[in-house]
Amino acid sequence: MPVSTPATAVIVGSGIVGAATAYFLTQHGVKVTLLDAVAPAAEATGAADGAVSVASKRPGPMMTAALSGVALYRELAATGLFSDIFKSRSTFIVAASNEECEVLHAHAAALAGAGVRVELLAAADVRQRFSALSTQARLVVEVHDEGHAIGYQIVHRFLTAAGVTVRRASPVRSILTGDGRCAAGVVTQDGEIRADIVIVAAGNGSAELLRLENVLTPRKGQLLVTERAPALNASMPGSIMSGRYLLSKGSQKGGVTVPRGLGLVIDPLRTGQFLIGGTREDHGSRQTNDLDAVGRILRHAVALVPKLASVRLLRSFAGLRTAVVDGLPLVGRIPGYENAFVATGFEGDGICLGPVVGRALASLACGAEPAIDLRPFAPSRFADHGVVA
Ligand SMILES: Cc1cc2nc3c(=O)[nH]c(=O)nc-3n(C[C@H](O)[C@H](O)[C@H](O)COP(=O)(O)OP(=O)(O)OC[C@H]3O[C@@H](n4cnc5c(N)ncnc54)[C@H](O)[C@@H]3O)c2cc1C
Repeated sequence: MPVSTPATAVIVGSGIVGAATAYFLTQHGVKVTLLDAVAPAAEATGAADGAVSVASKRPGPMMTAALSGVALYRELAATGLFSDIFKSRSTFIVAASNEECEVLHAHAAALAGAGVRVELLAAADVRQRFSALSTQARLVVEVHDEGHAIGYQIVHRFLTAAGVTVRRASPVRSILTGDGRCAAGVVTQDGEIRADIVIVAAGNGSAELLRLENVLTPRKGQLLVTERAPALNASMPGSIMSGRYLLSKGSQKGGVTVPRGLGLVIDPLRTGQFLIGGTREDHGSRQTNDLDAVGRILRHAVALVPKLASVRLLRSFAGLRTAVVDGLPLVGRIPGYENAFVATGFEGDGICLGPVVGRALASLACGAEPAIDLRPFAPSRFADHGVVA
């Protein structure tokens, strides 16, 4: 275990987790080398919705970490770093069927139990505050104090503030083993890079690096962006999350994830556009959008907000989340090493959790106490599954 602050670090991956860790390590005075196989925010971080949200989190360690995640966004917005790139808003979870109402009642109770400010809206309040919402909405729960941020903007802000330049097109092949239980750096296609500590924040790329193919799986999501519709956008006091989203994500115990689930989220962006998503598909091809998925997303969106029918779709895109078989991310020391760490497996929660995890990992790597409890996320729980040792 490093007893003092390391002088140098090499970080593999410049998504939101790698960029946040770089930023917080530089705050500890560490000199950071940041490598990416492609470029900053080239993978999930650049293809995400961007909900900074507790609303859909499963009760337990994820909900607790997400509360700290949202609080950190608010703190960084208040102190200036994120002031212009974090949008504060509520999330409105909308149930339209008996099954969704049942899940939403249970979920609202769990959120309230965790200290989240939630409000069950009566039908009259819904009509007054959210006139755009369809009358199909049978139960609406407002989750207060949430927000939205665009992943690649957060990455850019962290890197600029840290003064770190990413070495692009630098895929890391392996961790370079040093004496005893120490990592000496990493091996790239262009040779070795030595450092006092190694951080693997390579999203789905972490599977091959750490031989975790049986633990990490890519989960595709397709998203849509509309043209600007300022009047409709302004009439929406926050984002809409359908009760189906909780079902597709398995946010409540007993919630089942289906092979090609659809959980609808409609986010009114600052630009006046709408970001609408998305699917959960258990495979690793993100090259395409398909008409079936795009059609289903649009049909569900129009069913909840009928006026979207006259708003044109501008583009569709897809990204790959990194899912862990037990539903919790992997954050902490890599088994077998004293000075190598991993942070991956954030599935659909990494925009919310990236900054707070980056800060915690920087503390851990510098021998300080992390501000969030990382024990539920310890990689050692998969030590038998082939985590590099
Ligand atoms: C459709 C979709 C919607 C989402 N919506 C939300 C949301 O609303 N809210 C939320 O909180 N989260 C959301 N997420 C999840 C979030 O985007 C991810 O959890 C988060 O971006 C993961 O960040 P990361 O840094 O761990 O990984 P990534 O962003 O995947 O970054 C990993 C980086 O590592 C690099 N890399 C890989 N292998 C190597 C290697 N061998 N050497 C060097 N570099 C390597 C890659 O090129 C990449 O740049 C969504 C994701 C998707 C796909």
